[in-house]
Formats: sequence, structure tokens, C-alpha cells
Amino acid sequence: MKKIVLGCIADDFTGATDLANNLVRAGMRVVQAMGVPSQPLDAEADAVVVALKSRTVPVADAVQESLAALRWLQDQGAQQIYFKYCSTFDSTAQGNIGPVTEALMDALADQPGADFSIATPAFPDNGRTVFKGHLFVGDVLLNESGMQNHPLTPMTDANLVRVLQAQCRRKVGLIDYKVVAQGPDAIRTRIDQLRADGVGLAVVDAISNDDLMRLGPALKGLSLVTAGSGVAIGLPVNFGIAPSNTASALPPPTGLQAVVSGSCSLATNRQVAAFIEVGRPALAIDPLQLAASGGSTTTVTQALAWAKELLAQGPVLIYSSAEPSAVKAVQAQLGVQAAGDLVEHTLAAIARGLVGLGVRQLVVAGGETSGACVQALGISQMKIGPQIDPGVPWCHAQSDAAPNGGLHLTLKSGNFGTDDFFSKSFGCLK
Ligand code: ADP
Repeated sequence: MKKIVLGCIADDFTGATDLANNLVRAGMRVVQAMGVPSQPLDAEADAVVVALKSRTVPVADAVQESLAALRWLQDQGAQQIYFKYCSTFDSTAQGNIGPVTEALMDALADQPGADFSIATPAFPDNGRTVFKGHLFVGDVLLNESGMQNHPLTPMTDANLVRVLQAQCRRKVGLIDYKVVAQGPDAIRTRIDQLRADGVGLAVVDAISNDDLMRLGPALKGLSLVTAGSGVAIGLPVNFGIAPSNTASALPPPTGLQAVVSGSCSLATNRQVAAFIEVGRPALAIDPLQLAASGGSTTTVTQALAWAKELLAQGPVLIYSSAEPSAVKAVQAQLGVQAAGDLVEHTLAAIARGLVGLGVRQLVVAGGETSGACVQALGISQMKIGPQIDPGVPWCHAQSDAAPNGGLHLTLKSGNFGTDDFFSKSFGCLK
């Protein structure tokens, strides 16, 4: 059996890729699994990231799914478990970060070092810093960052010790920046002290990447680490793994190139405009026309016929991305959920059709859109490759739509990527 050293559980799909990307950059060979696999791992990897959709589901479901992921990861040999959540600590008063953390600690209780764990969403490279237990997003406190108005997980308190304590039975403490600045030995001493004080979980300050690199060695020996994606940069060294180009090696690229975009974020709208500006062919999907035509079949057929003529000359773009006012108009007419589902379903069918036409390098923009496309392509796991932009790597996956060799794909969540992302990404795959 192939054995991994690090087992990761991510509470959402694009967050899983973000973590996997950091691990690869720190030298690990990483596979991302969509949900808990039903089979043992069939690939050479140092870490597997199991991507769940457990961030905002009921607490009991999040706990159950996370424990199932834990069991599978342990079966693959994982020596340490990494529970990954959002860098804005997205959670409600009930959880799910606290309850999932404690359920994992309880389940790991017979392992050495399972009586204590840490929590930090810090990732200074992405503007997430923790100072005296308070989370900053860029220059402002979490509760002033816009996250206080999040529809599902409003974050109204930047004090993570308080936030986490409200979700946990165990006592929550703090390892502050002064300790972290002194290095791994000081952090270990502080952990021992907290343990002696009956503390089971500690929020850790980190205001620079150097802090995360100092934290990494001190986490050796803990059965469970909980964090955003930032802590990952300092962990592989504990397993004797150093950054290398081979970690991100993927099979050589083949086939035709295409972009499918269902994200309407500011960054994606700029990327769509930039792709069109450099003269590449682009086809817009109009959700109202789509709804009026009574289903996606006609639209999918027309889009594929359009693409078929052009693909041989280079990448094409098929997009529903639109400005906020246009999206609002569509949502007012079709309903938010119905519009989203219809567009996702259509773009996913187009993505599958494009692969059927010989596309083997596929860029997908949009978190939900990516989920729909991956499902339509029957992809259950991806090997993580080289980074295109922070948080967005190329991946390689097997799919029944791409027999004999699979395909390369990259899944870009809304606000990631530079304006020229759609055209430059193909050049990053060699
Ligand atoms: P992001 O990562 O930017 O949030 P997602 O794919 O997660 O992107 O979400 C975008 C949502 O908007 C999807 O449900 C998608 O189907 C929907 N959508 C895409 N284009 C339109 C449009 N023109 N009008 C209304 N909804 C749209």
C-alpha cells in the first residue's frame, strides 16, 4: 500500500486546493480527493487533502464527515492530521471549527500528542495575520473587514481565543507573537506550560511568514494541527521534506485548451475582458436566453459547435460571467438559486463536451462552477502541480471523459488570479 505522512481535511473545495498548493510548494507530493474516497489511495503522495463541504452544514454532519475523512487518512498511514478552515475563520457561534477540532482530538486520543492542538488562520502572504489573538484581514480587524456581514458566517469578533472558546469544551489559550518570535523551543515550552494549565487548544499569533516557519518545527509530535493554509509552509520539513521541482511534476500536457467561467467576481470579470482584448475567441452564455430555451441542451450543443471550429487555433473561452447589475437582473427573474443551478449545470455540461472534443487543458473559473465541472467530469481525485498564481495550481486528474491519460485542469476561485490569468495559465504548463 502507498503510505502518506500528512493527512488533511479541508472544510471546502477551493480551500483544499489552496492548502494542497502550499504543501506542494514546500516539497510534498499532494493528491486532493473530492470527498472521502471509497478506495485506498492509488498514487504516490506524501499528503492527501480530503475536500469536504462541511463549513456551513449542521455541526453533527460536519463532525461525522470529518471523522470519516480521519479514518480514511489514518488507513493511508497519515502520521499527523491537518484540519484546514478558511483564513477568515468562517464559522458560526456553534461551529463548525470548534466541534470538528474537538471531535478529531477525541478520536485521536490514543495517539501521542493528541491532548493539545493549535488554531491559526494566519497567512501573512495573503494578508491574514494574527496578533495577540486578533485576526487582521489586510489592515483591518476581521469584524471590520466585511466579514461581519457574511450571509452564512458573520464574523463579529476578531478575538479568536474568544470565538473558539465559545465553540469548545476544552480550555482555549494563546501563544503570542513574543513567544513565536523566539522560535521553536520557546513555542514548545509555552505549549508545555499551557498543557500544565489545563489548556487543550491555543490560538497562535503569526505576523510574518517567518513566524509560520518558526511554528512548523514546534508542531512536530502533535497528532492534530488546525489552521488556514498558511501553517502548511512550515510542516513538510518535519517529515524531512524540502522544496523541490519534482513535487509539482505532472504528466506532460496534451490536447486542446479551453476556459469555462461561471464566476462573476471582479477579478474574473477582468480576466474575461483581458482574454477578449488579446483577441482570443469568447462565447457568452446568457442565462435568460438559456432559461427561455427550456433547458441547457440547445445551448450546450450550440456552444460546442462554436468551439469545435476554433479549438485547433488555440484556447477558447465560454463564459456566463457578468457584471453585478446583469447578475441581479437574472436573479430577479429566475431566483438566485435557480439561476446559479441552471448556469452551473450548463457550464459543467459544456466542460464535459469540450473534453469530448479533445480539450485536455481546462481552466475553470468559479468555486461552485468548479464543483459542478469536476462532478460532470467524474473526477474523484487530482494530483496537484505547479502554481499559476497564489492559491491556484494546475492539477492532473483521471476522467471517464478523457480516457487514456486524463486531463490537466485548474480550478480558480472567484477573486484569485491576475488579469491575464486565462491566457497565461496555459504557458505555465510544460
Ligand atoms: P465565485 O468563485 O466567483 O464565487 P462561483 O462559481 O462559486 O464563483 O459562483 C458563481 C455563481 O453565479 C454560480 O452559481 C453561477 O452558476 C452563477 N452565475 C454565473 N453567471 C451568472 C449570471 N450571468 N447570472 C446569474 N448567475 C450566474
